[in-house]
Amino acid sequence: MSNQVLFVGAGYANLSVLKNWKKNTPKDTEWTLISPSRYKYFPEMTGLYMEDQYSLEDIRVDLAEFCHRNGGRFLEEKVTAVDRDRKTVLTESGKSLSYDLLSAGMGLRQETGTVPGVRDHALFLNPHEEIPMTAASMQYTEYPVVAGGGAFGVEFALSLQAWRRANRKKTPVTLITSGPVLPEENKDVRDNVRDLLDERGLLLYENMPVERIDADVIYAGSRVLPYGQVLWLDGAKPPLIFDYADLPVDDKGYLLLSSTLQTVGSPDIFGSGAGTVLQEEVNTSKDSITAFQEAKVLEENLDRMLRGKTKLKTFKPPKKESLVLNMGHRTGFYRRGSKTYISRQAWREKKKLDKYIMKEIRS
Ligand SMILES: Cc1cc2nc3c(=O)[nH]c(=O)nc-3n(C[C@H](O)[C@H](O)[C@H](O)COP(=O)(O)OP(=O)(O)OC[C@H]3O[C@@H](n4cnc5c(N)ncnc54)[C@H](O)[C@@H]3O)c2cc1C
Repeated sequence: MSNQVLFVGAGYANLSVLKNWKKNTPKDTEWTLISPSRYKYFPEMTGLYMEDQYSLEDIRVDLAEFCHRNGGRFLEEKVTAVDRDRKTVLTESGKSLSYDLLSAGMGLRQETGTVPGVRDHALFLNPHEEIPMTAASMQYTEYPVVAGGGAFGVEFALSLQAWRRANRKKTPVTLITSGPVLPEENKDVRDNVRDLLDERGLLLYENMPVERIDADVIYAGSRVLPYGQVLWLDGAKPPLIFDYADLPVDDKGYLLLSSTLQTVGSPDIFGSGAGTVLQEEVNTSKDSITAFQEAKVLEENLDRMLRGKTKLKTFKPPKKESLVLNMGHRTGFYRRGSKTYISRQAWREKKKLDKYIMKEIRS
């Protein structure tokens, strides 16, 4: 009987492995990719999508077609439970699938938190299938507010403002954040970004946690801000399923992996991407580039396991963390290690990175 490999979640590493599956892996295996949506979106391309530089088809992959082309099966389902002893997973509609090896690449889920009104009134980018609707709602409303001043909040707000200016929308984008803007960056970088936000006409409210959202106003500190649509960018959390399945997780719920990308204590369950953490390297950033680097080790180790080998390859996280963002109007933000710049060149780097992502998954 064939070995069954289940890929749960269309995370970057899983897709990158599957793209090469036919040419590299033993013949007597069958694989299934399970994901709740037929389309996998690339959230890092949302900014340039909003600026009309990318089409909808540029920022997503049709998973049914992808699986067919690469010799596997696609199941449009959400996995709700993993039984490690019986080596089966259960889906939302009640299907049970058994596996010899499982590879979890499920990204992060959205939590709406405890701020009253967020669940009822805010828009989200997670699950990523929300991206086109959320982007359109934010483009066409008056008084759009982005709540969350981290890297992706700043990228979204600036890209949105660029589109709105080009399309003569009258009201500016408001960016509101509970701490300083870009809290991970140093003071000089933050000052430069503040200047850019100001130059582009955005309204910025820092150190102002949102306390409540009503149908048309946001309460934050002493302010009452009117809004047409509000995008909530806080509350990305690892999937609950790891904890439910009694798999080892850290104190925040991230799946604990050994350096071979196997779940600690469950060698037949591999993990990758933003919902996981390396036991020995807890500070490794889990961006999409790291996920692609994990893919090379994941691919090799799945193959070795299927061939009955016991010695597996280890994953060494990149030494320098990097971040590349679209800042609107052909300007980008680039950081690698301690080197940061905001420029046209950084924007070209951003486009290069997107091209790399598309190539890694599509070609
Ligand atoms: C606006 C925005 C901009 C961003 N920009 C950048 C950037 O510039 N650079 C960067 O590195 N990162 C960026 N990110 C973060 C980036 O999106 C994540 O780091 C990345 O998507 C994580 O990839 P992943 O491989 O872990 O999984 P994902 O790409 O999130 O994929 C996970 C998949 O698993 C599926 N899944 C989830 N739960 C289940 C389940 N129960 N059963 C089956 N399938 C399931 C999901 O549907 C999804 O298809 C950005 C995010 C946002 C929102």
